[in-house]
Amino acid sequence: MSARRVVVVGGGVAGLATAMYVQKLAPDAEVTVLESQPRAGGNVRTLTIDGCTIDVGPDAIVNRPESGVALCREVGLGDELIAPDEGSRGVLLAKGDRLVPMPAGMAYGIPRSLTQLATTELLSWRGKLRAGLDLFIPAEHDDTLSAGALVERRLGKEAKDALVEPLVGGIYAGDIDKLDPKIAIPMFAELKGSWIRALARAPKSSGESPFRAPRLGMIRLVEALVERVGKERVQLASHVEHLELRGDVIRVHRAGSEPLEADQVVLALPPKAAAFALAPLSVGLAESLRAIRTTSSATVVMAFPREACDWPKASGVLVPRSAGGVIVAATLIAEKWPVRVREGLMVLRAFVGGDRSPQALDLSDQGLLDAVLGELRRYLPLPEPSWTHLHRFFDATPQPEVGHTRRVKEAREGARALGRIHLVGAAYDGPGITGCARGALATAQAIAE
Ligand SMILES: Cc1cc2nc3c(=O)[nH]c(=O)nc-3n(C[C@H](O)[C@H](O)[C@H](O)COP(=O)(O)OP(=O)(O)OC[C@H]3O[C@@H](n4cnc5c(N)ncnc54)[C@H](O)[C@@H]3O)c2cc1C
Repeated sequence: MSARRVVVVGGGVAGLATAMYVQKLAPDAEVTVLESQPRAGGNVRTLTIDGCTIDVGPDAIVNRPESGVALCREVGLGDELIAPDEGSRGVLLAKGDRLVPMPAGMAYGIPRSLTQLATTELLSWRGKLRAGLDLFIPAEHDDTLSAGALVERRLGKEAKDALVEPLVGGIYAGDIDKLDPKIAIPMFAELKGSWIRALARAPKSSGESPFRAPRLGMIRLVEALVERVGKERVQLASHVEHLELRGDVIRVHRAGSEPLEADQVVLALPPKAAAFALAPLSVGLAESLRAIRTTSSATVVMAFPREACDWPKASGVLVPRSAGGVIVAATLIAEKWPVRVREGLMVLRAFVGGDRSPQALDLSDQGLLDAVLGELRRYLPLPEPSWTHLHRFFDATPQPEVGHTRRVKEAREGARALGRIHLVGAAYDGPGITGCARGALATAQAIAE
């Protein structure tokens, strides 16, 4: 495979990271990144408001596996990485009108021991007894079950709804009853026998947070990637319409410019955009990419005078689907990342919408702010906000539904068979920045070989 002219379509973290790793592993490659927006970064958006650094998109990189943090180090951000504040590591779960601390050490909301199960406030006795049956239920061999169905079989519906759904549904802004267990709850999906027993035997976590982020927000990762790839190689406001094959050459058609010729093309795009670009080459491939569903969400940021906020210490709040509202989760930014918030302020961001309440995205800005404030007041004493900010992310979160791994494998093989076209990013390598970084490195290795 010739790696000489490599065009990366999409200037989010996945595209920029792939471009950087290709340059590293194939130094003779000429790499160009085409990004349709006038800014790079995709979902990554860091704002400075009223002396505070606010990530409205991703705000933390999980460091297990290491790929996301390794990407930061690779581009020189090692010294800028910080962990969430020690004093506010815990997460609160909404139960009725109360916020209850999530017991430490649970994995995806699954209890680590029978004692933890017996003592949690989050389940009724009936729910606890049902979850305890996990010790006796034989292993499940039906790989058509969703994550939700699998959790329900082992631990019962109450534990699924109260403990696991808020976390897993929150990560994907999705529906646990549709997600693929191999991706949504990977450490449990293939376990033989009791999940609680397996967790009890697993090594205890050191207590260190698994999350890291650049001190000045996630945009530092984008800036460092653009710098490393070379500003002149990242063409902004360059919208790719479709690809065309001419012999061994791939022609990348852009709106308003001449086609660019490439030997290899990386599509680091949301699945619908990738389907659009590939449609003239393969209707079947475009169809299977379109079948990867995405959800939309909004981030609502609110700041309050600190002295008026008598809140429990925690980095965030998870709200179960059963609460019936629009909020999926909230980050207490002033507690999680105190260095990013100016003194005297309490700042939080709420995630709204997803599969939980897609109709929330249709509300006016004021309607959405009112809905979020009203819901938060069920759980926290809140004065009127000093300021607010709202951002809508349309179709930004791909849903790895049952059969996703097979679908992605087939799509990738189909794209490569068409002629050195690679698919990378959250839809194929997710979830999150860590998945994008891992996919970027693997794609660059394939190109360099
Ligand atoms: C609200 C929110 C919070 C999140 N929180 C976290 C978190 O805390 N931690 C974490 O790890 N992950 C988090 N994620 C997920 C994370 O943001 C994504 O996994 C990651 O940013 C995806 O990167 P990507 O490069 O694959 O896609 P994107 O960021 O979507 O980038 C794709 C790029 O392609 C461009 N593009 C689209 N069509 C074309 C075209 N035709 N031509 C050229 N360019 C095009 C787009 O403009 C965009 O810049 C969050 C996501 C959201 C929405």
